[in-house]
Amino acid sequence: MTPTAPAVVRPRDLADALERLRVAAGDVPLRPMAGCTDVLVDLHFGKPAAPAYLDLWALRGELGGLRWTGEGLEIGALCTYADALGNARFRAELPMLAQASALVGATQIQFRGTFAGNVENGSPAADAAPALMALDARVRLMSAAGVRDIALAEYYAGYRQTQRRPDEIIGALVVPAERLGCQGQWMRKVGTRAFQAITKVGLCGVFGWRDGRLGEVRVVAVSMAAVIKRCPAIEGYLSGKAVRDLDPAALRSAQAADLRPIDDVRSTAEYRAEVFARLVEQAARETAA
Ligand SMILES: Cc1cc2nc3c(=O)[nH]c(=O)nc-3n(C[C@H](O)[C@H](O)[C@H](O)COP(=O)(O)OP(=O)(O)OC[C@H]3O[C@@H](n4cnc5c(N)ncnc54)[C@H](O)[C@@H]3O)c2cc1C
Repeated sequence: MTPTAPAVVRPRDLADALERLRVAAGDVPLRPMAGCTDVLVDLHFGKPAAPAYLDLWALRGELGGLRWTGEGLEIGALCTYADALGNARFRAELPMLAQASALVGATQIQFRGTFAGNVENGSPAADAAPALMALDARVRLMSAAGVRDIALAEYYAGYRQTQRRPDEIIGALVVPAERLGCQGQWMRKVGTRAFQAITKVGLCGVFGWRDGRLGEVRVVAVSMAAVIKRCPAIEGYLSGKAVRDLDPAALRSAQAADLRPIDDVRSTAEYRAEVFARLVEQAARETAA
């Protein structure tokens, strides 16, 4: 270890991990690390290292895998994309999240990257977190003091800022039972190429149709704001509409109430706004069919 290398704490088990977080929180908080596919990229690009990391990888026995319970599907904090994609029930009940998982990086990344890491990293261009948000997932936070749940739609306080306290880890992400197998799951990632791309504009949504009209609609915008974001004005506009009622101008004015895209290295605000509006229309037409 070089003198500047950060310390890495390896807990014995979950109880030990939570106790170490609790003790460190009042002094120098430990930064959790899981698959490290974001943590190491940050270090590589010169972001300052945390003084000390808490390596969660050894907790895969306690916090890994998928668990179906009465409340829904619990995706353990150490569950990787490859773990989930290898499960036929996951693919059948959550096709949008499976599609998002298959689009994260390449195979190597899918064997290390976790859903919890994707959520906590807080990138507005993430793939799995918006799919989870469109499915009404909850973030299950664990600390030595207990467990609390926060709706993912309320989890981000700003760019890469979350509601997690320094003494907590994400223990699991919970998709409610009523969302498992729900119809109308739809996602599209627009990047510079089909794979290994960072999203320029994206949409994850659930479009529930009944008797030719949209009922419950959830639309999450990706790479359209500082955080991934539900779009209540668009959802309100779409609800109750048949495909023939969709009016591009009205849709764009609802979109303007929800989203103010920015220009950055990946795209312009104008391109983002135009493409996103077309994605909403495409999602509605395809899920209706
Ligand atoms: C080559 C490459 C390609 C990639 N492509 C994509 C892509 O296409 N789409 C995409 O969305 N992402 C992509 N990523 C980013 C990354 O792979 C994902 O965000 C991944 O899900 C992160 O998971 P992880 O377990 O590796 O997180 P880590 O790197 O270990 O951690 C990420 C963040 O989450 C925190 N954290 C991790 N686990 C917990 C926990 N249980 N509780 C609290 N905090 C926690 C860490 O402190 C850190 O802030 C790519 C990365 C690389 C290197």
